[in-house]
Amino acid sequence: MNRAVVLIFLFLPLLLRGQDNSYHRTVKLMGCRFDLTVVAEDEQQAAGYLDLAIGEISRIERLISSWDADSQTSEINRQAGSSAVEVDPELFDLIQRATGISRLTDGAFDISYASMDKIWHFDGSLKEMPAADAIAASVSKIGYQKIRLDADLHTVYLPEAGMKIGFGAIGKGYAADRARALLEAAGVRSGIINASGDLTAWGKQPDGTDWMVAITNPLNKANAFAWLPVAGRAVVTSGDYEKYVSFDGVRYAHIIDPRTGYPATGIISATVFAPRAELADALATSIFVMGVDTGIDFVNQLPGIDVIIVTTDNRVLSSAGIDLKTANHE
Ligand code: ADP
Ligand code: MG
Repeated sequence: MNRAVVLIFLFLPLLLRGQDNSYHRTVKLMGCRFDLTVVAEDEQQAAGYLDLAIGEISRIERLISSWDADSQTSEINRQAGSSAVEVDPELFDLIQRATGISRLTDGAFDISYASMDKIWHFDGSLKEMPAADAIAASVSKIGYQKIRLDADLHTVYLPEAGMKIGFGAIGKGYAADRARALLEAAGVRSGIINASGDLTAWGKQPDGTDWMVAITNPLNKANAFAWLPVAGRAVVTSGDYEKYVSFDGVRYAHIIDPRTGYPATGIISATVFAPRAELADALATSIFVMGVDTGIDFVNQLPGIDVIIVTTDNRVLSSAGIDLKTANHE
């Protein structure tokens, strides 16, 4: 093991080389920070593009937010156990893709995780491990297999009272993909949408080189240990470095296995490279749940997907498609 890599923690700030003609804006949407970058002719044109992207992200937030009582998602949740709800084709398709990812990950990813009883608290208030039966009971309403989708009527039905869906582990990625698609359609040849670490980039930087992501130690963010090109793809990091709880020397992450009710262990951060941010977002969460070995085996079977994992015992591992030794050390 490379000594320089041993103490590393991942984090993904973005390096912007060649700032000319690239314009930035930071906004808070979907409960997180979005940093938007577009390459444009001038400031006025860039402002139009940035407004377009922000409008799109806000629109998606209104559709998928479970906090907003007026969203279609909230209506689906309110009608759990009583009736099917007709939704926009866009939301229907998102739910259908999410259940597809549940099948792919054998339930590690599950939008009905939102039905979970909140027995784990990651704010320091939890002083002892919850009881095993309480943990098992906390996930009894979860189950993507139970979600009933009618493709002709575009209806979604959660058959048990108390069932809920939520897009916490896929929504930011979806919004980033949509904002990018809209900007590309509007003629923006190059840009970056970064939703607090859910990032998609297209085109080249103004100086003609690929956009790069810096992989750094958050305890020493000034020194990236690797630079990787994003080049038309998406990069998403899920990390538990802020939200976790420890019992008997085991560190439990804020991402919970929807099949067992136990928080994920073994991983501090998972960074997924994929063609789309939506898939990268969902897979980053899934890999956390799967754990190190299963997570890497899983990714190695998926063409076009890669992962870099930092483990709780400070190892840095990657899937077959990434060679950290040759990744552009600064
Ligand atoms: P972050 O953006 O906090 O790094 P993620 O993208 O991994 O995290 O999403 C974590 C959020 O996803 C949680 O806060 C919760 O809302 C939801 N979630 C947690 N576990 C799962 C799961 N197994 N499947 C689907 N969603 C989950
Ligand atoms: Mg995620």
